[in-house]
Amino acid sequence: MDQKTITKLSSPPDEDAEVLVSQPETPVSQRIRARLRNARERFHANDNIARFIEPGELQQLLDEVEVKMLGVLESLVIDTEGDHNTQDTARRVARMYVTEVFRGRYNPTPEVTEFPNVEHLNELMIVGPITVRSACSHHLCPIIGKVWIGVMPNEHSNLIGLSKYARLCDWVMSRPQIQEEAVTRLADLLQGRMQPDGLAIVMEADHFCMQWRGVKDTDSKMINSVMRGSFLKDPNLRREFLALLQRRSA
Ligand SMILES: [Zn+2]
Repeated sequence: MDQKTITKLSSPPDEDAEVLVSQPETPVSQRIRARLRNARERFHANDNIARFIEPGELQQLLDEVEVKMLGVLESLVIDTEGDHNTQDTARRVARMYVTEVFRGRYNPTPEVTEFPNVEHLNELMIVGPITVRSACSHHLCPIIGKVWIGVMPNEHSNLIGLSKYARLCDWVMSRPQIQEEAVTRLADLLQGRMQPDGLAIVMEADHFCMQWRGVKDTDSKMINSVMRGSFLKDPNLRREFLALLQRRSA
């Protein structure tokens, strides 16, 4: 065995991954992916990966997406030099994905202060409609709709300010996903923060992958609901919530 072979055999098995993380010339998406893989973290379209992005890297990610997006436009045989309308499209789309419509993947949870339920409120609270903007993970087509949240607090629950529901909802929704999973994610987040006796979420949305492409059905909406705790156990509470929604949206 020559010296070279011995060196190679004595290397730790995951040395390749380490090298990938530390080399600055590696594309930023690969560096972030290597960190996720090393930590055995999932990075599906609707997962938040903010913890794995270092300061300054979001800007580099935007630059990388711009280059790739320009490649897509070139492959679509769109004249990005001659057509003045598409000259900056790659940059605009990259910025839209990274900093706007998918920002819920790259930014940490919004700061939301929970406060104790000092008044011991135990009446049904309904928040909504909150406007929802998301995208389907199959086609990256918009999903635009509304969400209603019902909360049944107990004396130990934490409460959050009215506007904070919208901020948390926006953070969860600004990712590519499917509606069923989006609603569950939002329920998990609110349940963890507030620890209410019951939580109910209803989402109604237009799916542009039904309207813009595919069957081109412009009237269909998808409605999903999640019921937890007392909303699941108490049919009267569930009825009260749904009846109030119907009156509101009529
Ligand atoms: Zn779709």
